[in-house]
Amino acid sequence: MKKYSVDEFGFYGDFGGAFVPELLYSNLEELKENYKQIIQTEKFQSQFQKLLKDYVGRPTPLYFAENLSEKYQTKIYLKREDLCHTGAHKINNTIGQILLAKALNKTRIIAETGAGQHGVATATVCALMGLQCIVYMGEVDIERQAPNVARMKMLGAEVRPAKSGSRTLKDATNEAIRDWINHPKHTHYIIGSVVGPHPYPDLVTTLQSVISKEVKTQLRSKEGRETPDYVIACVGGGSNAAGLFSEFLENEKVSIIGVEASGKGVNSEASAATTILGREGIIHGSKTLLMQNKDGQITEPYSISAGLDYPGIGPLHAHLYKTGRAKFISITDDEAMQAGLELSKMEGIIPAIETAHAFAIFKYMNFKKDDILVFNCSGRGDKDLETYRTYFNY
Ligand SMILES: *Cc1c(COP(=O)(O)O)cnc(C)c1O
Repeated sequence: MKKYSVDEFGFYGDFGGAFVPELLYSNLEELKENYKQIIQTEKFQSQFQKLLKDYVGRPTPLYFAENLSEKYQTKIYLKREDLCHTGAHKINNTIGQILLAKALNKTRIIAETGAGQHGVATATVCALMGLQCIVYMGEVDIERQAPNVARMKMLGAEVRPAKSGSRTLKDATNEAIRDWINHPKHTHYIIGSVVGPHPYPDLVTTLQSVISKEVKTQLRSKEGRETPDYVIACVGGGSNAAGLFSEFLENEKVSIIGVEASGKGVNSEASAATTILGREGIIHGSKTLLMQNKDGQITEPYSISAGLDYPGIGPLHAHLYKTGRAKFISITDDEAMQAGLELSKMEGIIPAIETAHAFAIFKYMNFKKDDILVFNCSGRGDKDLETYRTYFNY
């Protein structure tokens, strides 16, 4: 019996499910009835593997970070998702979902995006496959994330502003759901993380699990064993983390660490540390931990990294937290920026600020000299250069 996989009702322990308006029921049923079977077909697998190899650039290296290992007196490996096409792990999921959409005869793709990274990954695969692409984005985010908006437009996507509420990610999500209700037949909704109603968390975990599958093979050849002692990843919604953790979930000898953004500090009211600040509730159609006010309204999260600036976490992660299977550590903006600088100076790798959070955990942990740690280097820092520049006054 697997303890950390989704059950037949779409739950991870107490979390998950599909709490959606009745009007979305048929769309989700279609997906739920078909996704597992389609992903298992030889046709899907051969196309998926081929694109992961030749288009995304997989397998990504598992890099032994010698300098960092020397400094922290432990064995540190980086899974180099930053080297994927478009600069992060997100493309693993969008490639898989676009193939799924094609198998379901969908011709129109919708997505929502906050910082624009998922929007770009979606627009990329739509360009590749020649499918119509509409990306919903909060009006405020459109202004803040101009380079990604330009990328999406170059890739042929239409970027539709969400003008209600706080005009950010959750409002864009509402617009995308409304669109899907109105266009059920030919539209597929590509969700970008392990969030949303069942079957999305499981679907996205399955597509991202290529990360941990590769780690096993790579560790076997580098260390003579498939399992590390620790797997460590930042958690926004939790897809890069789910991808790195998935093959190791049932092996309790592997310690799991999720790293959240505490922004300006957990008590500052400018934070995104969901496991500390969140309570059970429903967001994006799934029951999970989320940041909310006393009336259950979602509160606006904050982090210097746009990708961790999400008020919830996926139901798998809520389950890992509640059962104690994973330990969660929260890292402030300042700690993350210093860790990003350290990785740049010591290893010549400028990480995305999301990723940098994971590399700030050393002072909260006591690793042993022969512990094998695998960090998910989820993305590269090019997109964050302006934020780094302003922060360090370059
Ligand atoms: C989007 C993003 C994240 C956060 O999303 P998850 O679903 O939690 O992985 C983390 N790192 C990078 C580089 C991202 O682009």
